[in-house]
Amino acid sequence: MSENLAQPERLTPLVQRLRAPNPGPMTLTGTNSYIVGSGPDFIVLDPGPDIPGHIEALARAVSDAGGYLKTIVVTHGHPDHYPGAQGLSRLTGAPVAAYRDAAFPHTQNLEDGATIPANRVTLTAIFTPGHAADHLCFFLAEEKALFTGDNILGTGTTVVAPPKGNMADYLASLRLLQAAWSHAETIYGGHGPEIKTPAAKIEEYLNHRQARQQQLMEALAAGESTVPQLVERIYQDVERRLWPVAARQVLAYLIMLEQTGQVRAVEFVPTDVPSPADQASDALLNPAGTLDPVAAAELGISNRPADQPEKLKRYSLAG
Ligand SMILES: [Zn+2]
Repeated sequence: MSENLAQPERLTPLVQRLRAPNPGPMTLTGTNSYIVGSGPDFIVLDPGPDIPGHIEALARAVSDAGGYLKTIVVTHGHPDHYPGAQGLSRLTGAPVAAYRDAAFPHTQNLEDGATIPANRVTLTAIFTPGHAADHLCFFLAEEKALFTGDNILGTGTTVVAPPKGNMADYLASLRLLQAAWSHAETIYGGHGPEIKTPAAKIEEYLNHRQARQQQLMEALAAGESTVPQLVERIYQDVERRLWPVAARQVLAYLIMLEQTGQVRAVEFVPTDVPSPADQASDALLNPAGTLDPVAAAELGISNRPADQPEKLKRYSLAG
């Protein structure tokens, strides 16, 4: 039996990684599930999507080590991170711990600073909203390791997409990680490889955001623009199929800049006959039907009612 199940990679004496078989544009090579501890009791972080073989492999890795699963922790309620928690909990009896306001089923409510202990290890929860409103990172003091979920990934940048993603919150979360947790020696992200230079990576993430915001302000300084027009200008270097994702990112910045009074938005007056340009713009702003389900869920637009489309607006710098 067990020879058909994937084996976790041992990264350190206290951390093993088993990558879920769900590669894709939003998940890179797949979701990283981590097994934390040295036994007899273990913690699994992010069981990933509901893939039976993956869940069995996680349970088997723990039982093969002669141990048992004490707690399942979940970084945030996106479909590539939490659904496997239910199956793993049924299989092992372990409780599911998540942020107290998380909307998905969980039995243990975590606040910022909450600790999740197992034999000779402790994870500390760090409330880091922005990518998702219920996002937690976790610090493993014994190895100075920071589990960052989707706040920081092994490669590339993370998506911050309204309505559930919030750019101001996300930047505040990155600054919190920089101020309080950059002494970490390793970052284990929700996707991609581990990072051995946490302080530099956090700074790189902040600089990247700063640069994108600067590009956006410059594009707006050139004249009043819609989100699709801004995407076309700023994301020339990004594949076109990812432009709907880029549009959500641009929108996230614009919402933040509108709230801080740096940008002004004016809604289009609807016309009876939309022009082809308007239709193309709308497709970029409301792409739910054209994206794969995981991408649409990551962007928080999978369950948006069809009669509540994102409205096309013209943005300009506030005088
Ligand atoms: Zn996510």
